[in-house]
Amino acid sequence: MLQEQLVRPPIASPSLGYDYDIAIAGGGIVGLTLACALKGSGLKIALIEPQPQSQAAAKGQAYALHLISSQILAGIGVWSAIAPWVEPFKQVRMSDGDYPHVVEFQPSDLQSQALGHVAEHRVLLQALQDFLQKCPDVEWLCPAQVIASHDQGDRVEVQLAAIEASDPVNPTDITGAESIRVRLLVGADGARSPIRERAGISTHGWDYWQSCIVVTVATEKPHDNIAYEKFWSSGPFAILPLPGHHCRIVWTAPHAEAEAIAALDDQTFLAELTRRFGSQMGQLRLTSQRFIFSPRLMQSRRYIADRLALIGDAAHVCHPVGGQGLNLGIRDAAALAEILRTAHQQQQDIGSAQVLRRYQRWRSPENWATLGFTDILDRVFSNQSLPVVVARRLGLRAMQTIPPLKVLSLKFMAGLLGRTPELARKSADAKAKV
Ligand SMILES: Cc1cc2nc3c(=O)[nH]c(=O)nc-3n(C[C@H](O)[C@H](O)[C@H](O)COP(=O)(O)OP(=O)(O)OC[C@H]3O[C@@H](n4cnc5c(N)ncnc54)[C@H](O)[C@@H]3O)c2cc1C
Repeated sequence: MLQEQLVRPPIASPSLGYDYDIAIAGGGIVGLTLACALKGSGLKIALIEPQPQSQAAAKGQAYALHLISSQILAGIGVWSAIAPWVEPFKQVRMSDGDYPHVVEFQPSDLQSQALGHVAEHRVLLQALQDFLQKCPDVEWLCPAQVIASHDQGDRVEVQLAAIEASDPVNPTDITGAESIRVRLLVGADGARSPIRERAGISTHGWDYWQSCIVVTVATEKPHDNIAYEKFWSSGPFAILPLPGHHCRIVWTAPHAEAEAIAALDDQTFLAELTRRFGSQMGQLRLTSQRFIFSPRLMQSRRYIADRLALIGDAAHVCHPVGGQGLNLGIRDAAALAEILRTAHQQQQDIGSAQVLRRYQRWRSPENWATLGFTDILDRVFSNQSLPVVVARRLGLRAMQTIPPLKVLSLKFMAGLLGRTPELARKSADAKAKV
């Protein structure tokens, strides 16, 4: 049973001197994916999340999920609960402002039924939370947060503080503290990761000169499952198809411009939005509040420390162009689960530097490549100097007219050129056999 209260955990292996094998700090999508991916491994897991489950699921975000992410979730066994609630995208149109040569990516480029799916945060989180209820080896310590951790050689002591959930907006009332002893602490605690900071792991990166406005619209005509990535001079403008006649917009512009746009009255905002969106779906109607985010690029110098591994946004953050961030995090979780499972089967110490280095060697270079790619994409398409404009338009034409180049670019953006986690391979093979 999942617990909404912090309780004293059972001692899993008193003779070895620890309570759980792994503590995962952060019950966001990435932390939960790791816990689910370890089902049946024989490892005992404590999941620590400061927000009550219902509150964590209430985030009004939607993500473009790549094929490899849905394959990982299928390999875990959770995709069947997600699939009815997500919208596949069957075409991606990438364009440079009003330049007429549009690159069209099709499922046939990947020999699949869809290029990916758009999934809402609550759908993913709820399905993962429900799945964890069937995992007897996972104990949910919630609402609680990690306030300190101490390496003790063969284990790490993780100090927790229970949180009074009486104020859901700012749940900072700490009502009690205790500690658990584990063999490995995993930081899945988001971009500002207190665990990364306390471990003294520094980061590379920078803030962008842009902000992203995120909003949902209802459209008069169907979206035909087409996703758009339009590069305007102010920044990328993405349209993601949602179930029904709805689309999610991620609209990037320099900070001052974005703030001015976000502050417009509804009618003027809609007129500006329609100008960039185009008329292909008829009239638009706003169906959500406008949210504004400041994107940044961040890569942790190390993904590991003594008995510690970082995954998801705790390890890296990228510009939202191309919808990469969560997909990278899901691949981190699948990779770490695979490494820990194998190490446990081979009776190795899952928290040892030797085991954790395998994870860092696998994920850090792949994430660097994607972070670099999103950065270049944003810079090249936001640049209005004539040689750059000419070069990128030639590049777009080459991509549209040279199929191997288009397929290679698509595979890179969809995370299909890196090492495939076993979970994704398993579900892709099972599908191929049907
Ligand atoms: C505008 C925008 C659009 C985006 N679009 C896409 C997209 O289309 N596709 C895509 O793949 N990605 C997208 N992303 C990126 C994506 O949102 C993130 O990469 C993803 O949500 C990271 O998930 P996470 O689980 O690593 O971190 P989070 O979702 O931040 O979860 C971290 C969890 O840790 C908990 N926590 C914090 N402190 C502690 C502590 N001390 N102890 C325990 N727990 C703690 C938090 O409560 C939280 O639940 C977008 C981002 C933005 C800003």
